[in-house]
Amino acid sequence: MMEDLELNAHKNNIPIMERDGIEFLIDYIKKNSVKSILEIGSAIGYSAINMALISSEIKVVTIERDNARYLDALKNIKLFNLEKQIVIINDDAFNVEIKDKFDLIFIDAAKSQSTKFFEKFKINLEKKGTIITDNIYFHGLTYDMEIKSKNLRQMTRKIREYVEFLKDNKEFKTDIIEIGDGIAVSRRICE
Ligand code: SAH
Ligand code: MG
Repeated sequence: MMEDLELNAHKNNIPIMERDGIEFLIDYIKKNSVKSILEIGSAIGYSAINMALISSEIKVVTIERDNARYLDALKNIKLFNLEKQIVIINDDAFNVEIKDKFDLIFIDAAKSQSTKFFEKFKINLEKKGTIITDNIYFHGLTYDMEIKSKNLRQMTRKIREYVEFLKDNKEFKTDIIEIGDGIAVSRRICE
């Protein structure tokens, strides 16, 4: 069933997390006893489903702006019987105001906006929480200085700026993990 989701995503060019990236995320959630997760960018629900399947105690709130993907995600969440654990919101994350706090925030939406997502949603992070961001290497293009396409150049520049923003951030300590498409793990520094 999980293979069907993966095949379906690849066939339709939906950028779901790479398998080793997902394994890393699952491992992180287990080791750190993460129970509540806010995800920005659900696509068809693949990563949210993988995280929720770890334990019935885990709750995921996930946001997807694209209506067709939202509907697919909803269908897939039902298929896996995870309606009690996953709440999906169909809106642009920048329009969504959430009061809850989460152990983990997973940013996996528009890559040029990661800094803005980080700044908007860090108020939703528990004191000792972690923000994880996917696609730091962007298929190995983030540090490629010979990109021809202007849009792609702009996007990779934004990702580099995001990495700098994380490195300079006094409130969080970030490790960039060379797994999958590059994963940033930003832990809030607490005394
Ligand atoms: N986390 C998913 C993949 C997400 S792909 C997985 O690994 O299974 C990124 C998704 O983010 C896309 O479906 C895109 O529509 C969505 N997205 C991009 N910008 C967004 C925004 N501002 N608000 C909500 N969703 C957004
Ligand atoms: Mg991703």
